[in-house]
Amino acid sequence: MDRAERSTSVQGSSFSLFQTTVMLEQHIRRRTAELEEALHKNEQTNRALRAAEARFHGIVNQSLVGIALITDGRISYANPKMEDIFGLGAGEAVGLDPMDLAAESDRALVAKNVRARMAGEADESAYTFRGFRKDGVPLDVEVYGNALQVDDQRIMVSIFLDITERTRIARENEALQVTLREQSTHDALTGLYNRRYLEEALGRELVVAKRSGHPVSVVMADLDFFKAVNDSFGHLAGDEVLKTFGELMRRSSRASDFCFRWGGEEFLLLLPHMSANDAANRAEQLRGAFATSGVVCDGVKIAITASFGVASFPPDGTTIDHLVNAADGRLYVAKTSGRNRVISTSEQLT
Ligand code: GH3
Ligand code: MG
Ligand code: MG
Repeated sequence: MDRAERSTSVQGSSFSLFQTTVMLEQHIRRRTAELEEALHKNEQTNRALRAAEARFHGIVNQSLVGIALITDGRISYANPKMEDIFGLGAGEAVGLDPMDLAAESDRALVAKNVRARMAGEADESAYTFRGFRKDGVPLDVEVYGNALQVDDQRIMVSIFLDITERTRIARENEALQVTLREQSTHDALTGLYNRRYLEEALGRELVVAKRSGHPVSVVMADLDFFKAVNDSFGHLAGDEVLKTFGELMRRSSRASDFCFRWGGEEFLLLLPHMSANDAANRAEQLRGAFATSGVVCDGVKIAITASFGVASFPPDGTTIDHLVNAADGRLYVAKTSGRNRVISTSEQLT
């Protein structure tokens, strides 16, 4: 290579080096711009994620319901309200099996619900269970749960509501309803059914009797000269006599019979599936037992008797009024014909 050729070659390689450098610089600038753009986008995404997370925490931290996430059968997150409901310290719920929150009696129920959601057999569940706070105080808890699929992980979201107070009020209400119903159908002194309940009970028994063709009988009883008991021994002694007669009625009854205090010193026996004849025998037994036992009050034996009137379906009528009026009519005859007796047929009226 001569000098001129060498000079041209050197010039050529400098130029291509220059060209390469320029290209590289352009490439680096472009990549830098791209990276900056990507970093900017990443920063934006991170900011949006942080904002979403802050919003999520703001909501769940202030939530008035307990919220828990359950992953692989264990609590992986619990909000403050959830810890508050179960009396747990911050972070203490994490790692617990949801079953650990339930009372012995309801552990199987909780486990079944968690298992069903975990296995994908149910996406949602709603149930109540009896639980315990960490300090041992029992709780009634309502749970609403669903399941989320996050990538390859199944996460259960459960909402917990403390319904202890609500349940207590509901239970008290139920008990009150039972008491009110009991009071509205029973006599306070003797514990027997009251007159108000007769319409319901006798009405029902008459419907059954008409359908099945079985008899129904009623026995009306009135204590004899009861006013004299009050006058001689006092009102409290009179009350004891009423209670004793009620108890005697109850003890001589079958499980299917109904004993009523009709009012004052009057009583009524409702005897389903019992004929007039058998009812008269029952009344006669009661009369005899009461007359012979008397009532001992404050160590004093009070001698007292009762009179009875018996009426039956079908011979004496088909309605409540028919039967009650017929029994009452015969009771009147028992009174006017000497007391301490049972009148059960119309023939006895003459
Ligand atoms: P008779 O043989 O004709 O039935 O006479 P009697 O005295 O039993 O009947 P009367 O209707 O004259 O009197 C009923 C009495 O029953 C009057 C009332 O003060 C009394 N009495 C009504 N309810 C109660 C009660 O809950 N407790 C008490 N101790 N007495 C009552
Ligand atoms: Mg009377
Ligand atoms: Mg009387």
